[in-house]
Amino acid sequence: MTLAARHSALSDIGLHRKTNEDAFVAAPPLYVVCDGMGGAQAGEVASTLAAQTLREHVARGIPLPAAAQAANAAVFAAARGDSTRAGMGTTLTAVVLEGSIGHFVHIGDSRAYVLRAGELLQVSSDHSLVADMVREGRLSEEEAMVHPHRSILSRALGTEAVAELDEFMVDLQDGDVLLLCSDGLTGPVPAEVIAQMLAVPDPGQAAELLVSEALQRGGPDNVTVIVMRLLEAGDPAADRAPVTRVMPEESTGPITRVTGTGPADDGAEEAGVDGVPGDDRPPAGDPPFGEAAGATAEMLAVRRRLGCLAGALALLAVLGVAGVVILGTVFFVSVDEDNLAVYSGLPVSVGPVPLHAVYRTSSRSYASLSEQQRKIVDERDLRSREEAMELAGELGMWP
Ligand code: CA
Repeated sequence: MTLAARHSALSDIGLHRKTNEDAFVAAPPLYVVCDGMGGAQAGEVASTLAAQTLREHVARGIPLPAAAQAANAAVFAAARGDSTRAGMGTTLTAVVLEGSIGHFVHIGDSRAYVLRAGELLQVSSDHSLVADMVREGRLSEEEAMVHPHRSILSRALGTEAVAELDEFMVDLQDGDVLLLCSDGLTGPVPAEVIAQMLAVPDPGQAAELLVSEALQRGGPDNVTVIVMRLLEAGDPAADRAPVTRVMPEESTGPITRVTGTGPADDGAEEAGVDGVPGDDRPPAGDPPFGEAAGATAEMLAVRRRLGCLAGALALLAVLGVAGVVILGTVFFVSVDEDNLAVYSGLPVSVGPVPLHAVYRTSSRSYASLSEQQRKIVDERDLRSREEAMELAGELGMWP
């Protein structure tokens, strides 16, 4: 049986970010969502480069896993070639539809779901600190939803020479609805609400509902969704939707949308990346902002110095952060000599090797703090880069 997909893709900057670091491809039979991370616009570069490289390779007939490794190599090389982009990376969740089979590759915490007969099934596994802890039974699903470090990835594309990808196939059926999305949707919107919205027959309407729900629930992050409703090829409904771009005048703005249709196994249909057909550039944005920014050169230097990563991971396991490669997305405020400093990494050491490095120094001394301020510093709580810098400001570290 050959299935055709009516699809709709929508990406929104959200309500708290200054730039959209998500990228997507909706070019049947290939669909991709990437969510970038890294400072100085690197997240945007990583997600766009990954999506573009993957699309080019799949278009040349290269199998999806090999194409994803090529995307990994492209991001990894770009990060090495530019110190301001050191450590950048991206999630990647992609599917190629072939007949009635969905071929998937996946890394990171973007997600793939299938809605079948009203039941929502997450077919991808999150590669994140909290997901690992849930799998080990050390955290409940509910605790994971609100965990302060839920955005820390345990695997990403472009941060290692070879990516540790999940590859899997799903047998698809007439009437299934597939969803690829970034964590800007799944963070604020519970699965049962996603299921209700995916049940709406029109993929364009379903995508709109999902994104507006994420925004209504605070829109904390960039949110990207691709909704694919699968119908047997030849079903008049499968051919009904024309290829339409909604709001094309906003193609370079924060909101990008693509809707369309195409046989699941027809590579001719091209819908574009970030809402611009044939153009992989992300929407223009302001300087980067937010917790996705962060992997620093210093942090990478620390990771290279580790030498024995297994030993470090064993210690991290003891500390309750099992199996996690910290990707430089965590920061804390502490004391360097007598003065305050913002650090990148974890406030621990493996033997003589610290798992952190000074990110910003300050001339403000610890001794000059009030008792309450010292208490906050002593806690050395992990924060996103933005939160750590905000705390540093509150502590008067930049006179
Ligand atoms: Ca995100």
